Amino acid sequence: MLMAAAAVIPNLNELKQMSARFAPVTLHSDESRLSPGDRKALPKLVEAAKVLNLLFMDQLWSEDRALYEKLQKDTTPLGKERLHYFWLNKGPWSDLDGHVAFLPDVPARKPMGANFYPIDMSKEEFEAWTRGLGKPERELAEGFFSVIRREGKGLKAVAYSEAYAADLKKAAGLLREAAAATENASLKKFLTLRADAFLSNDYYASDVAWMDLDAPLEITIGPYETYNDELFGYKAGFEAYITIRDEGETNRLKEFASRLQEVENNLPVDPKYRNPKLGASAPIRVVNEVYASGDGAHGVRTAAFNLPNDERVVHEKGSKRVMLKNIQEAKFETNLKPIAARVLGRDAQADLSFDAFFEHILAHELSHGIGPHQIQLASRATTPRQELKELYSAIEEAKADITGLFMLQYLFDHGMQHGASAERQLYTTFLASAFRSLRFGLTEAHGKGMALQFNYLTEKGGFAAHPDGTFSVDFSKIKGAVRDLTHELLTLEAEGDYARAKKMLDQWGVVRPEMQRALDGLKGVPTDIDPVNER
Ligand code: ZN
Repeated sequence: MLMAAAAVIPNLNELKQMSARFAPVTLHSDESRLSPGDRKALPKLVEAAKVLNLLFMDQLWSEDRALYEKLQKDTTPLGKERLHYFWLNKGPWSDLDGHVAFLPDVPARKPMGANFYPIDMSKEEFEAWTRGLGKPERELAEGFFSVIRREGKGLKAVAYSEAYAADLKKAAGLLREAAAATENASLKKFLTLRADAFLSNDYYASDVAWMDLDAPLEITIGPYETYNDELFGYKAGFEAYITIRDEGETNRLKEFASRLQEVENNLPVDPKYRNPKLGASAPIRVVNEVYASGDGAHGVRTAAFNLPNDERVVHEKGSKRVMLKNIQEAKFETNLKPIAARVLGRDAQADLSFDAFFEHILAHELSHGIGPHQIQLASRATTPRQELKELYSAIEEAKADITGLFMLQYLFDHGMQHGASAERQLYTTFLASAFRSLRFGLTEAHGKGMALQFNYLTEKGGFAAHPDGTFSVDFSKIKGAVRDLTHELLTLEAEGDYARAKKMLDQWGVVRPEMQRALDGLKGVPTDIDPVNER
């Protein structure tokens, strides 16, 4: 196995600089309006979330958990800093630096298939093996909820319920205790069914119950995102978001959800690719985070999410968007404000707006739920995810961003109340925010997807670079450029066109010199946040 050369392992000062990219923040949430039962349930849920931190370490690398235990025993200044930075990444590879090792005696880079596949397995071997499987076996092997292990010289799929039995049993027990404590029927139902799913490996019923969850405690816990499976994008990482609903904001944003079908009907794509009937329910929740864990608590922090990923549930029930408002506020204050001060001209800086930032993240999440999901190729029913494979995450993130801009412009043009400078604020805030995403690096789906958008929009004249190193929006060209790119990405997904996705990412998903100069100028600005209450 390739080990990191000792020379590239950061020393104490270098490691401190790496950690300093995460601005320490204290997350606030209001527990005062919770019922007595919910107050009893909350610490149980945080405990369950903590179990998933350890389970996620197992998913990342076979030796990760043992390494975490070892680091906790090292009380030297270097040892403490290594533990701190390990905690920010939940492993020995730096998310912000292309997953390269920052500790000695570990693989030089995070394994592409994490610990979801045998470390010596090639893509070709997996594909040859699955081609020979019957339908149910193949579904398990390519599905979200199994790991692939060696059996003799061959391969076998092991269900999560079996692979992680001890942790899942513990987490299920805590979910049942929380279910017994809460008075809210929909929360009780979700927690009970999710505890069942941890043991049965069948997540369908609990995903449906999560869609119907309507409670002051908004809980997301389980295996969800596939970003860590860089081989195929099939396997889901365990994570939890323990949050409290912000009632006022949730009500304000209902207008967006109520107009989603109208936006779908007007997407700039061949009408045959539009979905005439979106899933009936598309709830949006605005929440404040109490505790996040596992795949939801390493590297760049999630500001919003759109789940579930199971296309059967999305097709039948739609999907739910959860906006983490206190996370977004923390990012806006500690990251975006100082970035805007460097990449925008003086006049444009006045158009930087938290509301625009917040509404675009909302529109991004809504956009994951529209556009092509169940597609037809020749005589085969499939999904963009299955067809675009490892390129899907970056394409889907770019699609959500750009379709989100299209959506907001559409709503501005068709009756949604907005201030006189809302358009200027939207595109200017998006431009500044692009640099925030690009700093995540091109190995990360959001960063790669943003490079694609930024270069495309610049080529079309929507963004302009200036000799003084600042950038601006050309308001005469940006709307057309956004529409064109939305068309390209939606069409690509509808046609499951892997070759086209590859070509677009090769052409535009790159860092060009002007962008690199701007990124170099942002050294010292925090890249993301470090919620100190989760340490
Ligand atoms: Zn997204």
